[in-house]
Amino acid sequence: MKIANKTVSATRLVKDALAKAKEFSDYNIFTFLNEDGALKKAAEIDEKIARGEDAGRLAGVPYVLKDNFLSPEGDTTASAHILEGMASPITATAVEKLEREGAIMIGRANLDAFAHGSSTENSYYGPTLNAYDKNRVAGGSSGGSAVAVALDIVEFATGTDTGGSIRQPASFNGIYGFKPTYGTISRYGVVAMSSSLDCIGFFTKTPEDMDLLMSVTSGQDPKDLTTLPDYYDSSEVKKVKKIGVIKDFDNDVVDAEIREALVKKLDILRGRGYEIVELDMPILKYALAAYYIIQPAEVASNLSRYDGIRYGFRSNNSAGLDELYNNTRNEGFMAENKRRVMIGNFVLSSGFYDAYFLKAAKTRTLIVEEYNKAFEKCDFILTPVSPNPAFRLGEKVNDPVAMYLEDLMSVPLNLAGIPGLAIPAGFNKDGVALGLQLVGPRRSDKSLIEFSKELI
Ligand code: GLN
Repeated sequence: MKIANKTVSATRLVKDALAKAKEFSDYNIFTFLNEDGALKKAAEIDEKIARGEDAGRLAGVPYVLKDNFLSPEGDTTASAHILEGMASPITATAVEKLEREGAIMIGRANLDAFAHGSSTENSYYGPTLNAYDKNRVAGGSSGGSAVAVALDIVEFATGTDTGGSIRQPASFNGIYGFKPTYGTISRYGVVAMSSSLDCIGFFTKTPEDMDLLMSVTSGQDPKDLTTLPDYYDSSEVKKVKKIGVIKDFDNDVVDAEIREALVKKLDILRGRGYEIVELDMPILKYALAAYYIIQPAEVASNLSRYDGIRYGFRSNNSAGLDELYNNTRNEGFMAENKRRVMIGNFVLSSGFYDAYFLKAAKTRTLIVEEYNKAFEKCDFILTPVSPNPAFRLGEKVNDPVAMYLEDLMSVPLNLAGIPGLAIPAGFNKDGVALGLQLVGPRRSDKSLIEFSKELI
């Protein structure tokens, strides 16, 4: 992203990106195109550069914003009907940091409504299509962001990852997708899904770009008390010797060609002198069950604020206040949003709290401990991102449990708060992209990104 070299203007880059966005309109990537705003910013940056001023580390770089980040440009809908017409009163800290360095948002990207899903088929605006096969899903929830980068419309896009929403669409579209350590990037100004799991991250084509974006956006934010003290830029790149593979994941659940891709990468690493360590992590098979209790519980709480009074859409023709709340929520949420609110309220209800929520919380602690033990035996772990590559549109959307199973290998990281980088791993015989993920201990983000260069 070396833009400020004066060989190409910001205006040229933005115009090209907007033209490509239109050329690929059948992929349904965008919920909003920021044409006037982006061109205006580009002109400002070109003037700055002409005056010889420092225009920032991302000067003139067009990017795409997942439509659950608040910023003044365009409504923030989270691809949910209930937020339609929701002008952002504030700007997300991550957006502020990107723009301070000269990045230019050319559009807002489609997602599963409120980031609930693994295919973007739960979006109010319909699904985004896979970059390599239009009959297949983009993955989700950050499907629009992933496809925008995979089709070279922009060099990077933002995402959020609560249970895999960056890593899975990245792997479905053959690019890099990073979920940092919990608390590394401020979530201020991002629509909350499940607050103990949500992370901000990026889609890029290279590890170098990922590193730059992490450097720009990470750091403590007084507006988000869950952010960690700054560590990213100052962390030492560690000397990696041992790579772990999880025995329990290398089984029948995983598609044969993904397993082959994993074996190939392990062979490369062995050839370069790394030791491969087999890990027994039986507790991980309970991560999905724990996730689908903790996450809906937090969703039920976070989504209770959408009442038709304060945000976006309001249902007309309601007789009284209660009916207005009911009708707004009924008409405004997608089926998947409602399913999660119901599950969440159920697992938190007094008769079931101990049986479900408390058990899930205890399981979460065991998962954290299991990873701690694993990282005593190895530096990083290499696993699949999801059990299968991009599936066909419509294949799973009417079967919520099949859709939830997509998240089997991505959610353990969110429960443990540890970083995961989805890396491209070639294509299967049908030309569908394959991905793997590198997993590290808390705060190993910089080393993880650096190490991924070994696997290109
Ligand atoms: N697919 C997962 C879910 O539906 C993860 C979503 C996310 O990370 N936002 O919960």
